[in-house]
Amino acid sequence: MEIKCIGILTSGGDAPGMNAAIRAVTRSAIYNGFVVKGIYRGYRGLITDEIVEFKTNNVSNIIQQGGTILKTARSQEFMTVEGRKQAYETLQKEAIDALVVIGGDGSLTGARIFAQEFNFPIVGLPGTIDNDLYGTDITIGYDTALNTIMDAVDKIRDTATSHERLFFIEVMGRDAGFLALNGAIAAGAEAAIIPEIFTEVDQLEELIKNGFRKSKNSSIVLVAESEMTGGALGMAERVKKEYPQYDVRVTILGHIQRGGSPTASDRILASRMGAAAIEALLEDQRNVMIGIRDDKIVYVPFSQAIKNDKPINRELLNTLRILSI
Ligand code: ATP
Repeated sequence: MEIKCIGILTSGGDAPGMNAAIRAVTRSAIYNGFVVKGIYRGYRGLITDEIVEFKTNNVSNIIQQGGTILKTARSQEFMTVEGRKQAYETLQKEAIDALVVIGGDGSLTGARIFAQEFNFPIVGLPGTIDNDLYGTDITIGYDTALNTIMDAVDKIRDTATSHERLFFIEVMGRDAGFLALNGAIAAGAEAAIIPEIFTEVDQLEELIKNGFRKSKNSSIVLVAESEMTGGALGMAERVKKEYPQYDVRVTILGHIQRGGSPTASDRILASRMGAAAIEALLEDQRNVMIGIRDDKIVYVPFSQAIKNDKPINRELLNTLRILSI
């Protein structure tokens, strides 16, 4: 079937750069002669028909804004067959022939199921600060979040060095240590405690054994939020019990990590990926996520992007260890 109208939505957790992606998808689509419709509130808006046609000026002046002008939501209904059927009916009613879905792991899982169920063309864009999608070196929002973490840790360090303390700073990542590990390197932290190596080594014990405070008067450790690590609070509890001689403090960075104006890297990434999504549809690609590898756009089948765990670069662990002496 010939594609005439493309719908675009953002889903799951918001990420800086989503607006730059919405702008790029909209403008590339219009440039190539498609009609574009913005779907508000993710899959929920697809079910409840919150849809508006987008012209080029609907996406003016948004490239620099964090969040997503389309809003985002989590939709339980879309997890059900009935909900997805309703979504399909909305698409037919709105004469939308293809979708661009911007979101994380869960959103692309939903996209994959929907695309299969209704034989509907969907292209995904990896929009998540967690960077946890396989098949792409980087996701939209990750660089901005990393910079936010770096700035926050810099500030915490100013106060940390005035006391002699062990600081655990919890960062987002939902079972992925990219933000914690690279955040730790960028901010010159002592260590990162990440879920990827949780079962291999006792990272806390290693930190203490290595004499974390030998030559310094304070230490900063980034902890990825995760049930496995128990997050920063879990680590602090352990220190209180097992190493009560240390004075521990916890900071949970929380939602500040999602906000803010996207960095240049994120804006460029989102712009390239958004344009590539339309290119992919023109090339008759279906059910792929746009990825970037070695600075080249690649198409990653949904099945790969969501099924595989993206490995961390273990060299980075070593670099962090060496530099924290
Ligand atoms: P982030 O990684 O930033 O949290 P995400 O896209 O992984 O983003 P989720 O909350 O996991 O966020 O998923 C977003 C939405 O995708 C869900 O609310 C749901 O509507 C849809 N979705 C997730 N998993 C499925 C599934 N297995 N089947 C159908 N829809 C799903």
